[in-house]
Amino acid sequence: MNLMQAVGFACCFIRNQLPGVLMTKPSFDSTALKDFSQAQGLLLTRYAESTIPTEYGFFRVICYREYLPTSYGGERFFKEHLAVVKGQPEGKEGVLARVHSECLTGEVLHSLKCDCREQLDYALRAIASANTGVVLYLRQEGRGIGLGNKIRAYALQEKGVDTVDANRMLGFPDDARRFDVAARMLADLEVRSIVLLTNNPYKVKALREEGVQILRREPVPIHPNRYNAAYLHTKGQRMGHELMGHPMDESKAPPVPPHRLIEVPHDPQVE
Ligand SMILES: [Zn+2]
Repeated sequence: MNLMQAVGFACCFIRNQLPGVLMTKPSFDSTALKDFSQAQGLLLTRYAESTIPTEYGFFRVICYREYLPTSYGGERFFKEHLAVVKGQPEGKEGVLARVHSECLTGEVLHSLKCDCREQLDYALRAIASANTGVVLYLRQEGRGIGLGNKIRAYALQEKGVDTVDANRMLGFPDDARRFDVAARMLADLEVRSIVLLTNNPYKVKALREEGVQILRREPVPIHPNRYNAAYLHTKGQRMGHELMGHPMDESKAPPVPPHRLIEVPHDPQVE
């Protein structure tokens, strides 16, 4: 179903309206969209829901659509984010949760360059055994810079640049992720507070700034391999991640190559 068809639905149900956020279920009307576009806020709609069997048991999967300010042929682009829900977290405190950003290379290709798939698997397993919890799967690949730019950053890393400097050379911040969508999804799920599965204190701070109540942080144990050891080392040293459970022995981390300035070719198609 495209946007205009969705807009054509006679019944519009505004689920929840927060400052800067429009939540609709399951569709919205054009007036609401127009008014909201002018406010340049976050437009999120709860779009679809089903239960799926997984290796870790059954999960309720709820798809949210985030409509973007850009459009083509009169239709708004959107991203689709998932809430992967176990049990009934509605109205509960201290719900075990992971706010996870998409990593196609790690999760689909089983790339060993990062620890994303390992963390996602751990979270799904932990939530399944707790019988209640939620993984919010956010579509912001490559710490928010997108798949193509992540591959460009990998190309720079092949030449000896670390993950932070590679992003900076491409003109991106160290971390371009947003957590407002996650906060609104948790509000829509009526989760009162969470225990957050993460090694990243910045994520705790960012979510709290969006109004999420976090009772405490639970670390995710990670097992470094020869391909992601340098990346994990950089995350620990330059991005404040705490690799608890399996602290890295810095003496065994591969040496970080000296910083070299590399000219980044620009794709004229992208300019
Ligand atoms: Zn990854």
